[in-house]
Amino acid sequence: MPGGEKRKEATVSTYIPPAQRREKSPHLPFGDMRQTPFYGKDIISVSQFDAAGLEYVFGVAEEMRSMVEHVGTFDLLKGKILANLFYEPSTRTSSSFMAAMQRLGGSVIPINEVRYSSVAKGESLPDTVRTLESYADVIVIRHPEVGAAAIAAQYCRKPIINAGDGVGEHPTQALLDLFTIREELGRTDNLTVTMLGDLKYGRTVHSLSRLLSLFKTRVHCVSPDILRMPPDLVAELKARGMPIQEHAMLDAVLPETDVLYVTRVQKERFEDPAAYESVKGAFVITPETMQSAKNQMVVMHPLPRVGEIAMELDDDPRAAYFRQMEYGLYTRMALLAMVLGKA
Ligand code: ASP
Repeated sequence: MPGGEKRKEATVSTYIPPAQRREKSPHLPFGDMRQTPFYGKDIISVSQFDAAGLEYVFGVAEEMRSMVEHVGTFDLLKGKILANLFYEPSTRTSSSFMAAMQRLGGSVIPINEVRYSSVAKGESLPDTVRTLESYADVIVIRHPEVGAAAIAAQYCRKPIINAGDGVGEHPTQALLDLFTIREELGRTDNLTVTMLGDLKYGRTVHSLSRLLSLFKTRVHCVSPDILRMPPDLVAELKARGMPIQEHAMLDAVLPETDVLYVTRVQKERFEDPAAYESVKGAFVITPETMQSAKNQMVVMHPLPRVGEIAMELDDDPRAAYFRQMEYGLYTRMALLAMVLGKA
């Protein structure tokens, strides 16, 4: 076949075996001091973090908070580019990563509507991340399938940050949730955390409960029967020694709760619309509900809320869900700086 030899040669010379691609060893300019623990790493699951790793993230997040409060925007990541690849809807996660990169002096390629990108032409996830790694220094990805971020990471030499993989994990949300608890209550130990709502499909509670298992924390899971925490996750948490109990009602556990973590019923994950209708309004937190709660506690929600928390609660000092978004900015600034070797 004419030209066959040439084509073959070109293919071989440009092919990088997956094992080699997986080695995230960016070339360090001479004299570069970027020997930090998270440099070049992917952030795929909360299981990558131990208590020391979390303290590291939170220490950097606190520095980011102080810098934003004092100077607003600064040049730590000047010249760096983030690709924000979202295959599922997002408001907070995508815009907070964009804001985080911009506050650090970097810039962003936003791909929030994959239906207008080559994904809509049938491009595979590996090809899309290989494209973006040619342009960007770090890729944030949200995808409807469990494990998609891990697959993307296998094909990408640049750090991949999981911004939610279906009903799997949402590690950056869990990190910001724990940072919120730490900042609001002053500790992450000796707490009673009550998770409420859709514990089956809610990926944020899957990640947060795993992180909480690193501390002395009691967890109550309150949900309709069809939305209970996945049994294998409950078993995993119990095996790690976490006191975790499941309940159908909130009343009995609210008075001892330090963190009430409310979640949205994840309509988009239901196969049967009637099943969604049967549980969508199962729990609504109102000022009346909160009468039996402690004075020193917080109500959190990853947002968006679709009726689980009445707006009348927003002025209650215990309502921490809007502050939680701000902690998310600092946490995501910290993570970007860390994987790019600047913190
Ligand atoms: N924003 C969160 C997530 O992406 C929570 C939610 O959508 O209900 O998982």
